[in-house]
Amino acid sequence: MVKPAHNLMAYNSQICVDDKFKFIVATDVTSSGTDKQELHKMAMQTKEVIDSPNLVILADKGYYSAAEIKKCVDDGIKTLVPAIRTGQELINKGKFTKDKFIYDKEQDAYTCPNHKFISRTKSINKSYARIMHMYRSSQTDCMACPIKDKCLGEKTKTKQTQRWEYQEILDKYNQNLETPESKALIKKRSSIVEHPFGTIKRNLGWDHFLVRSKKKVQGENALIMFTYNFKRLLNLIGIALFKKLMIALANGDLTQIREEIALYIANFRLYILNYLQYIFMVQFSKKFSL
Ligand code: SF4
Repeated sequence: MVKPAHNLMAYNSQICVDDKFKFIVATDVTSSGTDKQELHKMAMQTKEVIDSPNLVILADKGYYSAAEIKKCVDDGIKTLVPAIRTGQELINKGKFTKDKFIYDKEQDAYTCPNHKFISRTKSINKSYARIMHMYRSSQTDCMACPIKDKCLGEKTKTKQTQRWEYQEILDKYNQNLETPESKALIKKRSSIVEHPFGTIKRNLGWDHFLVRSKKKVQGENALIMFTYNFKRLLNLIGIALFKKLMIALANGDLTQIREEIALYIANFRLYILNYLQYIFMVQFSKKFSL
């Protein structure tokens, strides 16, 4: 695994977890030190298992990648990945950040804080396999600008910026991240994914791979995730129903067992809910008696 500061003999285990029952629905192993190229692949694997119109894939900001987000949009998969905040260095230096330059679609130009156009040039730049169109301001405008100190570097005479050919998709995506619904879901993410990681590390005691080479590691990873799911299933439905499920699977008729499992889980949840209310009240009264 290649990390920015060093190389490690390690693999990066990826999982997608459903928020209802905390099952691992997709997993993979990479030797990459970052998660930047993992979003679309994991989202596609998840979609194969849960092909629902309500499917929303949540991931932390380490997965934020314009190219990966576009691939998901193209394949009709809704994702919510918080954007990485940039521009702090510019703020610290008292310079304008990129959001102060407003894109005008009709003109295909940016308007700068001094209300001048920064127009598209013929140049393009290929950055991380993305095509970026280049934009440049007029030197005459900039040299006469009263706020150029907040905009240009000491030796630069014009403002240059670039725009991804599919930037509109990303802008729309980023806007959606700011809705209260999206924010609430993003907040919920860590509590969903920490459940299996916590169980795997603490209860199953697994914290490193025992085998070498990617293929074998993928096998070990799949086995540990399968073990987690199996344990989770037994915890959810119990041994008796699990035996019935195996018989139903062997007979090829799941209609009745599905209903039985749904009823069992619904009753179990009701029981847990009552139990948790009780625990909460005990703790609450304890707090008051101090
Ligand atoms: S320096 Fe140029 S681009 Fe920057 S604000 Fe002034 S006129 Fe606009």
